[in-house]
Amino acid sequence: MKSEAFITAELGRLDEYLPEWDNVRSTLLARFSPSFHGDQRRWLSAIEDLLAEGCSEAALRKLMPWRKGPWLFGELTIDTEWRSDWKWARLQPHLNPLSGKRVLDVGCGNGYFGGRLLEAGAWGVIGIDPTLLYCMQNFAVAAIKGTANNWVLPLTLEEVPLRSCFDTVLSMGVIYHRKDPLDHVHRLFECTLSGGEVVLESLIVDAHQNLHPSDRYARMRNIHVIPTTAQMINWLTQVGFVDARVVDITPTSLEEQRSTDWMRFESLPEALDPQDPSRTVEGHPAPVRAIVIAQKP
Ligand code: SAH
Repeated sequence: MKSEAFITAELGRLDEYLPEWDNVRSTLLARFSPSFHGDQRRWLSAIEDLLAEGCSEAALRKLMPWRKGPWLFGELTIDTEWRSDWKWARLQPHLNPLSGKRVLDVGCGNGYFGGRLLEAGAWGVIGIDPTLLYCMQNFAVAAIKGTANNWVLPLTLEEVPLRSCFDTVLSMGVIYHRKDPLDHVHRLFECTLSGGEVVLESLIVDAHQNLHPSDRYARMRNIHVIPTTAQMINWLTQVGFVDARVVDITPTSLEEQRSTDWMRFESLPEALDPQDPSRTVEGHPAPVRAIVIAQKP
């Protein structure tokens, strides 16, 4: 199949862009094989169609749900669950210059920010995300728009070689899913070059103490801790980052996160208390997110 050859070629380009991770190559090939995931044949057929026809709405719909975006392909816009462009607008002005830089995006979703980082001058963006569908969405984008130095690899941060080889390391929307957040931040530190920077973005609580939801938070399972900004700075400092600063705090609006024709499951509006939208349905404070940036000495 052409789609499998396409994927193998995309992974092959990592020899030039990420030689430091050569020992994960066989894992990657295995995870993209049709036997690894029950939906992979359908997703491969979508890539096959896109390689043959260019942009095809029917093929892109085989890769639903689309959560991060929006994606603009000529006449067709994929209106995603998230307005990730709004997060990018809040983040970009605070980043060190990206020109010629190599970036790691941990929990990158379908690679939306990778595209924006390349536009801003980055040399290459390695995204990692264990959700295989998002990796396939990134290949779909490449099949339509042409190959770019923006990868989405099906790996967790715990699986990648800890080699300090990235100028900028992003972890956005991941830390509150981790049982051991300090270990996560430590791994981010190990991936960052000396003189490089880290971006830690998270749901936060505006309070004196972290929130440990006993069950769900805004209908999400597996939320372990929602930190204060002081806690985020503390984690970063504990592992060795310096100059940690909060660059943005923004409540998530019902316009930024909602169901769409391309993501038909429930979203933020259904997770807030209809009587009091300043609370989640569980009675916790409604989502607010912060971006913290720090440097590796
Ligand atoms: N960074 C994007 C997406 C956040 S959603 C944004 O800010 O919009 C969180 C993502 O983290 C999910 O796609 C999930 O698959 C991924 N993820 C969860 N655990 C992870 C881990 N241990 N390592 C890397 N990614 C992880």
